Amino acid sequence: MNRTTINGINTYSFTSREELIEYAFSEKKSLIAINAEKLLHATEQIKNLINKNIGYCDGIGAVWALKKKGFKHTIKIPGCELWPDIIRHSYHEKSFYLVGSKQDVIEQTVNKLQSSFPGIRILNYRDGYIKTEADKEALLNDIKTRKPDVVFVALGSPRQELLIEEMLRIHPAVYQGLGGSFDVYVGAVQRAPEWWVKHNLEWAYRLVKQPSRIKRQIPLVRFAWLLIINKI
Ligand code: UDP
Repeated sequence: MNRTTINGINTYSFTSREELIEYAFSEKKSLIAINAEKLLHATEQIKNLINKNIGYCDGIGAVWALKKKGFKHTIKIPGCELWPDIIRHSYHEKSFYLVGSKQDVIEQTVNKLQSSFPGIRILNYRDGYIKTEADKEALLNDIKTRKPDVVFVALGSPRQELLIEEMLRIHPAVYQGLGGSFDVYVGAVQRAPEWWVKHNLEWAYRLVKQPSRIKRQIPLVRFAWLLIINKI
């Protein structure tokens, strides 16, 4: 398997989405998006979590780092595109469980999936506002009983990663943390237009739309510079 360590973080080089999906089903772990910000600033706790699981290149900064280490054919796989790809690739054989976002968004997500993928087996779902310990226990028990093959968890970071860790302990499966992807899927939040995404300029589009994001994008520039001067 093509994998290397960047700043103490194990990062996989996948050359196609199918390769990643097949590997995920063979391993039954959590898929964790790696970008420049994580490569620079992940805490020890997050690093340990990534290193037990499957870190894939969700950002262009991670792709640059792998290419520089010799993995020339590494592709960028945006997490918000990966989860529908996992479904498309496997819904005839596998079962699914969805957790996250607001109640109306998760309901719309389930409806849209059922019409886009006829026959899809969604074993259960719930919104992402888990308020009490009893709610969490009920969710964990439900996962244990229903045994889904794939669990998508869209609560934002690091909340979703911590929940996934608990779920993995009681039921091995393919897990993916999705942030706000259900909101994007049902159109409650807009993504950058295709041209910007295709040219790896999604970050620039977001910056124009939301200049306050500059704070979140400085790591990419810093990361690129550190790569150029061989500090990573
Ligand atoms: N959310 C949730 N439970 C919470 C807090 C947030 O399910 O306790 C959901 C929220 O409705 C949204 C997503 O998590 O759908 C957060 O998305 P955000 O874009 O903030 O996450 P990021 O992708 O930046 O990690």
